[in-house]
Amino acid sequence: MTGTIQPHTFRCRDLVGGHIVIDLVNTVTARDAEPTDWLDGYPRLLEWAALTGHFAPADLTDLRRLADTEPGRAELALDRTRELREALHDLITALIHPGAPAPAEAVDQVENHWKHAVASTRLTVRGNTPQLQVCVETSGLEYLNHELALQAFDLLRALPLERTRVCPGLRCGWVFIDSSRGGRRRWCDMATCGNSAKGRTHYQRKRADGAGPGGP
Ligand SMILES: [Zn+2]
Repeated sequence: MTGTIQPHTFRCRDLVGGHIVIDLVNTVTARDAEPTDWLDGYPRLLEWAALTGHFAPADLTDLRRLADTEPGRAELALDRTRELREALHDLITALIHPGAPAPAEAVDQVENHWKHAVASTRLTVRGNTPQLQVCVETSGLEYLNHELALQAFDLLRALPLERTRVCPGLRCGWVFIDSSRGGRRRWCDMATCGNSAKGRTHYQRKRADGAGPGGP
């Protein structure tokens, strides 16, 4: 990604991807114009992680403490998050375009992140379900990266290609999984991109009718 880094207060409406890994990809906005990275520091990554509801608050508190102690290592961990995010973006958007070759560099990077994550996992059995799990004790500041890489592998294996889309909204470019019943969701969020597109269409129609600003 080439673009700018901008502070952003994450809100629930920023989590419309339908999967935590896609919501990570969407921490960059306006990919269609001037990509803007909303992760302006490790504390911001922790804010985003808390909002997803995917991580235990106690783990995030531990990570905050670790980041306060080792801010340099925290920034390196964030760089790795960005690298994973961009590789996932390139891979997912290639997968959903029929005929587009999978970008080799992105595939290598996702593989590399996944291998690092797996090297830190423990096999646990809950009930009768075996699971590979990572924890803060073992992964330290890389915990979020490891968990996201494991989640990414699960997602990529089962990505519903025909239901995964890129929002055509102006200055958006967010990716989302359409889980609507009819499967005709076009916008990341009808209330934002959908409405502004409707507004534009309405404005253009009025202009064409000569009734809008600039008309007679
Ligand atoms: Zn959008």
